[in-house]
Amino acid sequence: MSLRRERAKKASRSSNRPDEPRSPLPSAVQSLPQLCSAKPFLKTQGGQERDAALRHDLNATQKHVAFPRSTFLEFCRLSSTPIGGSAAIDLMAFVLLLLCVLAAAAAGGARAVEYEATNNALGTPGGNRFQAEVGLDYSRQVLADASAFTWDTFGQQNPADRKGGVDRVSLVVETMGGVAYAAGNRIHLSAGYVAGYGGDVRREVTGVLYHEVVHVWQWNGRGAAPGGLVEGIADYVRLKAGYAPSHWVKPGGGNRWDQGYDVTAHFLDYCNGVAGGGFVAALNRKLRDGYSDGFFVELLGKTVQQLWAEYKAKYGG
Ligand SMILES: [Zn+2]
Repeated sequence: MSLRRERAKKASRSSNRPDEPRSPLPSAVQSLPQLCSAKPFLKTQGGQERDAALRHDLNATQKHVAFPRSTFLEFCRLSSTPIGGSAAIDLMAFVLLLLCVLAAAAAGGARAVEYEATNNALGTPGGNRFQAEVGLDYSRQVLADASAFTWDTFGQQNPADRKGGVDRVSLVVETMGGVAYAAGNRIHLSAGYVAGYGGDVRREVTGVLYHEVVHVWQWNGRGAAPGGLVEGIADYVRLKAGYAPSHWVKPGGGNRWDQGYDVTAHFLDYCNGVAGGGFVAALNRKLRDGYSDGFFVELLGKTVQQLWAEYKAKYGG
C-alpha cells in the first residue's frame, strides 16, 4: 500500500513538522566513541556510460563462453573411443582451458568495482592479529560480498540504480582510535580495536566491514538525514546479513527511533515488516535527494513517532 503511495506522493514531500523535531543524537551517545562516521560522497558523471560498458562486456563474455561449450560437446561426441593416453590428456587440457575461460568470464563480470585491502599496521599487535586471523584475501572477499548484499537489500540488482562514481572499495588497517569509519569509498579499520577484541575477531571484523560497506553505497539525504538513521541503516544491513554481535540490544530496545546503530536497525527491521518488505530499500531511494520525517508517512502511512510507539508496545514498552 504505502510503497505505491510513495510514487503517488513524490511531488508532495513535506518538510519537518515543528512538532516533530529531528533531534540530534543524545549527548550520552555523542560522547561515546563513534563506531564510524559516514562522509558524503561526491557524485561523478559517467556512471551510466560505465554501466553500459559493463553490460557490453557481459554480453561479449557470454558469447565467448558459448563457443567453447558447443566445441566441448562436439569433442565429446567425436571421442567415442575409450579415453586413455593422449586422448585423456587432450580432454584434461580442454577442461582446463574451459575453466580458464569461465574464470575470465567471472572476472570480467566483476570488473566494474575493484576491491582492495592494505594492512599498514603490520608489526603492531593489531596488525599482526589481523594478518593471522582475518587476512587481506578474506577482507577483499568480504568487501565484495557485503557490496552485493547491500545492493540486494537496497533492491539495486541493476547497476544503473546504484550510487554512481564508485569503481573501487578499499580497506586500510591502520593505527588509529575508535573502531572503523568510511570516508568516501575508503574504509579505515583500527588495528588497536582488532588487538583488543575478545572473541571471534574474524566474525567481528566481517560485521564491521558490512556496516562500513553500506556507508559506501547508501544515500544520506544529501547530508540531511539524521546521523542515527544513517547508522541504523548500516547496522540493519549488518543485521540482515547475520553479523549482529551478541552485545547489541534486543529488538524493542532503546529510547529513540533515531538513536542509531543497533537500536535503529531493529526499528527499521520492524518497519520493513510492517511494509511487507522493501521499506529500507524504498527509504534509501528517497534519501538520494534529501530527507524528511514525512518519508515514514509516505511509505508506511504513519508518522515515525507512531511507528516507534507501536514498535515499543509490541515489545512491552
Ligand atoms: Zn557507521
